[in-house]
Amino acid sequence: MTPVIALVGRPNVGKSTLFNRLTRSRDALVADFPGLTRDRKYGNGMLGDKAYTVIDTGGISGDEAGIDAAMAEQSLVAIDEADIVLFLVDARAGLNVADEAIANHLRVNQKKTWLVVNKVDGLEEHSAMADFWQLGLGDPHPIAAAHGRNVTALIEEVLEPF
Ligand code: GDP
Ligand code: MG
Repeated sequence: MTPVIALVGRPNVGKSTLFNRLTRSRDALVADFPGLTRDRKYGNGMLGDKAYTVIDTGGISGDEAGIDAAMAEQSLVAIDEADIVLFLVDARAGLNVADEAIANHLRVNQKKTWLVVNKVDGLEEHSAMADFWQLGLGDPHPIAAAHGRNVTALIEEVLEPF
C-alpha cells in the first residue's frame, strides 16, 4: 500500500510549498496570508522507486472558530487518513503557542510524527532548532521547502520503513 503523508501545522508555515515540491505541482495555493487551503488536498509523488501520497491541509491556528474550525477539522481527518504525519513549524517565527497546542494533540495520536522546522534558509540550523525540542516530539528536522534544502533526505528517512 502506498504510504500517506499528512502535512499539518498552523497556517503560513509552508505546508503548501512543501506539498508542491513533493508532488511537483503548482496546484496548492501558496500565499503570504494564511488559510487559503480550506479542504484537504491530495497529491502523489515518487522518490526513487517508492510512491507516496501527500495530503495538504489548511492548518490549525489554535483559535478555532468559524473557518478556522473547519480547517482544524480537515487537519484531524488528514491525520486519521495518514500513515505518517509531518508537523511543520516555522524557524523564522520561532515557537508559537499554536505549535504547542498542535503538539499536545499529536503526542496523544498513534501516528508516527516528524517535527519539521521549515524556513531555515539563511539561518544557522543548530540554533534555529533549539526552541523546538521542548515540543516533546523528538528531533526537529530542519528544511527549507521553498529551496528544497534537506527535503529529499527527510522524505527518504520518512519512507524508509515503507
Ligand atoms: P501554508 O499556509 O502552511 O500552506 O504556507 P505556504 O506554503 O502558503 O507558505 C507561506 C509563506 O511562507 C509563503 O510566502 C512562502 O513563500 C513562504 N515559505 C515557504 N517555505 C519557505 C522556506 O523554505 N523559506 C522561506 N524563507 N519562506 C518560505
Ligand atoms: Mg497552504
